[in-house]
Amino acid sequence: MPDAKTHDTINIAVMLVILAVISYLTIWAKNEIAISYLDIYMISVFSISYLFATFFLSPDLDIESKPYKRWKIFKFLWWPYKVIFKHRGFSHNPIIGPLSIVINLALIVALLFLLTGVDLHKVPLRYIVATTAGMCLSMEVHIISDFLISKAKSYF
Ligand SMILES: [Zn+2]
Repeated sequence: MPDAKTHDTINIAVMLVILAVISYLTIWAKNEIAISYLDIYMISVFSISYLFATFFLSPDLDIESKPYKRWKIFKFLWWPYKVIFKHRGFSHNPIIGPLSIVINLALIVALLFLLTGVDLHKVPLRYIVATTAGMCLSMEVHIISDFLISKAKSYF
C-alpha cells in the first residue's frame, strides 16, 4: 500500500482537480446551482477540512502511522480508535471508515466546545456540511488509492 507521502501527494492532486472543476463551474460556465452553493467561504471551509483530513484524519489512524504521529501529545485521542480498528479492516471500509473517524472527531470537538463554552448551534449548518464533505472526500480518496494501488501491485 502507498506510504504517507504518496497518500498526501495523491490527495492534494485530487483536491487541485476538484478546485479546478469548481472554478470552471462557477467562473467560466456560470452554473447557477454551483454559484448559489459554492461561495468563497464554502470553498475555503471545504478545502481546509480536506487538507486537515489528509494530514490528520487518514484511515491509517488504525496503526502507528504518520497521520497518527502528527497528533503529537494528542495522540491519545485516537488511541482507542487504533486499538478497536484492525489495520485495513473497517477503517478502510468506504462507509464505516469515514463515518467512524468523523464520529470520533465529533466526540473530541463536542468535548472541546463543552470545555470552552462554544455553542455548536451558532455554527451555520452549511459550514458543518462543507467540513464533513471535505473530510469524507479526503478519506474516500485515501481508501480508493489503497484499493487501486494494491490491485495494481497484484498484477505484477
Ligand atoms: Zn490506508
